[in-house]
Amino acid sequence: MFAVLIIAIIAVGYIVSTRIHPLRACPACSSSGRHFGGVYKNAHRRCRRCAGSGRKDRVGTKVFWGGTNNTGIFPKK
Ligand SMILES: [Zn+2]
Repeated sequence: MFAVLIIAIIAVGYIVSTRIHPLRACPACSSSGRHFGGVYKNAHRRCRRCAGSGRKDRVGTKVFWGGTNNTGIFPKK
């Protein structure tokens, strides 16, 4: 029973955390929003995974709050 309580507290903490901090660093560009070329080191384009924003919704943000479309702003209902 005690373990269940601990898990419940952690789960609630995670849900609250995804509301306060809905985004994570883009795994493809580590939040830089840029994808650099292999030969010409200064050449880059917008990261395709995050469309150059460097922002990605956390999994919990999508599951519990419906996602922010990678903007970090929750849509008004
Ligand atoms: Zn990216």
